[in-house]
Amino acid sequence: MKKKFIVLGVLFAAFGFTKMNAQINFGDKAIGAVQKGVTGFTFSNADAAALSKAAVDKMDTENEVASATDPYTLRLNRVFGKYTAGDGYTLNYKVYKLKEVNAFATADGSVRVYSGLMDIMDDNELLAVIGHEIGHVANNDSRDAIKAAYRKEALLEGAASQSATIASVTDSQLGKIGSAIIDSKFSRKQEAEADLFSYNFLKKNGYNVNAEESAFRILAKMSEGSQASFIDQMMSSHPDSQQRAEDAKKRAEKDGLYKPYVQQKIVNTAPVATKTTTKKATTTKKTTTKKK
Ligand SMILES: [Zn+2]
Repeated sequence: MKKKFIVLGVLFAAFGFTKMNAQINFGDKAIGAVQKGVTGFTFSNADAAALSKAAVDKMDTENEVASATDPYTLRLNRVFGKYTAGDGYTLNYKVYKLKEVNAFATADGSVRVYSGLMDIMDDNELLAVIGHEIGHVANNDSRDAIKAAYRKEALLEGAASQSATIASVTDSQLGKIGSAIIDSKFSRKQEAEADLFSYNFLKKNGYNVNAEESAFRILAKMSEGSQASFIDQMMSSHPDSQQRAEDAKKRAEKDGLYKPYVQQKIVNTAPVATKTTTKKATTTKKTTTKKK
């Protein structure tokens, strides 16, 4: 089993698809989108959300999702749980137990954070990364990306699909759409705007804005280390971590908030219970020590 979506760009929405065999059925909205895509291409926001959700649902079944009581989930609840409702978007989030450094958000408001990212980012840095991803959702970059990918796919498949009644989008189509999304990078402008969104998100909520610079420095540093080969791929579609770190620094300086950031302790373990009363029935805890 070869996972292709290794370190595919922290800080930009990406779909990592592996095998696509089964068929996914969509609701009427998405089916409509497919049909329209073949003929005239109108693809509503609801279509984009439906298609994104189907893609994410599939990924959720293909990856190990941290359970509700998993320490990674608990940490994400604590750090990010209160920010799921924003101006024009509603988010849901999950942790993928994957070593790769990655996070993405999609047009339906799904945020997926890899445990590998949580291993190297402290709470503030994590929020900086997630804030950036939310920026893509809030700025409709994610929607536009899946639209573009879908459009391309619909056009490619158009001739074959036109005669038949389309009742579903196949996994294979989804896979192509996913790959296309990966290939179609966000523009520099979109990235810069998502970075700004993240900065403002941190600032508005009273966090240390310098965590944004720090997060980019970490990524830049990783590209020089032993994981450089993975990072190469990331950098090709998501260059200039150093530059973006500089930009974040400049923003902070301009606001009079700059101070070199010191990374906080990263704790991905469950908090120790403080209650000393009745012992709860201990649920059998599955401890996964194997690393893939
Ligand atoms: Zn991005």
